[in-house]
Amino acid sequence: MATTRVLVVEDEQAIREMLRMALERAGLTLVEARSADEAVSKASDPLPDLMLIDWMLPSTSGIALARRFKQDSLTKHIPIIMLTARGEEDDKVMGFEAGVDDYITKPFSPRELVARIRAVLRRAAPMSRDEMLEVEGLRLDPVAYRATADEAPLELGPTEFRLLHFFMAHPERVYTRAQLLDHVWGTNVFVEERTVDVHIRRLRKAIEHSGYDRFIQTVRGAGYRFSVQ
Ligand code: CA
Repeated sequence: MATTRVLVVEDEQAIREMLRMALERAGLTLVEARSADEAVSKASDPLPDLMLIDWMLPSTSGIALARRFKQDSLTKHIPIIMLTARGEEDDKVMGFEAGVDDYITKPFSPRELVARIRAVLRRAAPMSRDEMLEVEGLRLDPVAYRATADEAPLELGPTEFRLLHFFMAHPERVYTRAQLLDHVWGTNVFVEERTVDVHIRRLRKAIEHSGYDRFIQTVRGAGYRFSVQ
């Protein structure tokens, strides 16, 4: 199998070098660009498997570059992780609206970065709807319609089951209430966004005895995320 190629777009040399060390150690291949223009010319042949883009770039900003890639039919399927120095929720919302797949805030550890990259790549890979999912001691078998926590069966309503299935299949990413409604309830259903909160509460309650309710995290001002971190 060909190695996974990551296009890194960052103007600061020290950070590029840190990224190179972390990614190469994890067995990933790096393609480096120092500006948006360089990134555009290096992104096409061959296409990278993932792009890591710094928010702060000279002339064209990282977010403008991300938006450009997400609007181009050739590159829109390539996952993008933004590097940002700011932790502002507004920036994150703006990024997710532009189609960015995840965020990592500087300073970050190489280990955290590689974990995020792996999670995003896993999500981007075509996934069977029937695939058995397992996160630590939490297991979900869509075929048998069964969920267990440390081997003990979970009592979940149909919506909670679908919600948990969706979260486990799409870890480490924030979803707004509206996005969860689209993915879990379906686009033709009219329900209020607070319905999501009700079912999240029920789901957490159903698994809290195992402690795995900690995976279902509220992200203030944005929505919810399934995360092991
Ligand atoms: Ca920069």
